Amino acid sequence: MSVVGIDVGFQSCYIAVARSGGIETIANEYSDRCTPDFIETLIVVQFQIITNFKNTVHGFKKFHGRTFDDPFVQAEKPKLPYSLHKLANGSTGIQVRYLDDDKVFTVEQITGMLLSKLKETSEGALKKPVVDCVISVPSFFTDAERRSVFDASQIAGLNCLRLINDTTAVALAYGIYKQDLPAPEERPRNVVFVDMGHSSFQVSIAAFNKGKLKVLATAFDPYLGGRNLDEVLVDYFCEEFKGKYKLNVRENPRALLRLHQECEKLKKLMSANSSNLPLNIECFMNDIDVSSRMNRGQFEEMSSQYLMRVEAPLRAVLEQSKLSRDDVYAVEIVGGATRIPAIKERISRFFCKDISTTLNADEAVARGCALQCA
Ligand code: ATP
Ligand code: MG
Repeated sequence: MSVVGIDVGFQSCYIAVARSGGIETIANEYSDRCTPDFIETLIVVQFQIITNFKNTVHGFKKFHGRTFDDPFVQAEKPKLPYSLHKLANGSTGIQVRYLDDDKVFTVEQITGMLLSKLKETSEGALKKPVVDCVISVPSFFTDAERRSVFDASQIAGLNCLRLINDTTAVALAYGIYKQDLPAPEERPRNVVFVDMGHSSFQVSIAAFNKGKLKVLATAFDPYLGGRNLDEVLVDYFCEEFKGKYKLNVRENPRALLRLHQECEKLKKLMSANSSNLPLNIECFMNDIDVSSRMNRGQFEEMSSQYLMRVEAPLRAVLEQSKLSRDDVYAVEIVGGATRIPAIKERISRFFCKDISTTLNADEAVARGCALQCA
């Protein structure tokens, strides 16, 4: 039976499996290797987030192991199109419409549904039952948070052999294909791994010899990721549209969600293009079409409070490892948000090194998980 590796990201999930020919990433039924973290009462379909937004649950990864009264949960609550409830044991419940009824699920049940979906996808692709898996979690997850993810895997009928840290998975994925690592008695090769996803920023330094990997240090900013930058754009356009079109976008959850999606697209376009780019949304609210523009320079200026936060974890990881910049052989980046030029620049400037992109930025975590038990 195959062991699959699962990366449950805040925004997207990836599944990989180790086979005799190497590591393979598994595609879902839409031939997409990435499955979004949206649960619409058991159906994972991204376009439904707009048509059926009150029932589409997303952004729940960080509710694992947290009580309803946790300040993070309380801060997220007003931003969500679905409602949260306090469960009898104090934990966070998520309300969705299920078979024509409002029903409150635990976060373990919701992630359990997502994992069952991923289990099914893997079984479809591998044409055999899948039970054993390795799941990655952020390195900053507490024991309670890990326990909660583990419980979700059991609800999905999976046997989670191990939960590993995202950054450890990335290091494993790096080590496996490197044929030229130093021999065991030689000085190890030190590599920095930087992962910025949708919701968090993680950094680690690992020392490699042939057949040996030691994680020397890890650091993070659990609340810094691509979504902060989407919010910067959303805030800006909400203000602009208030003046220009007299629209109060924040009062209309559906319009707000559409604006979020358009801003994320714009953010990605700005990574590839520094000129002025348009933002146009037809029939946005009250039958009004809205349009505006933005360029990378403006975006960077507006995002400075977040860009400033990139350096602290880099400094922390270097200090913890007791290495100097000269001891670092390479700086490898993964995670969607590391595609942003201003983020890459800051990482490169800090380590005084060009950054490497040896690893597949999206799939490295899942591949590392698949390797853990291969
Ligand atoms: P997390 O690791 O925080 O749980 P995740 O693993 O789901 O989240 P990733 O898939 O690594 O996150 O990254 C998603 C983020 O990367 C999103 O914010 C997305 O908008 C952003 N992103 C992806 N491609 C680009 C790009 N070309 N330019 C800018 N941002 C991008
Ligand atoms: Mg991730």
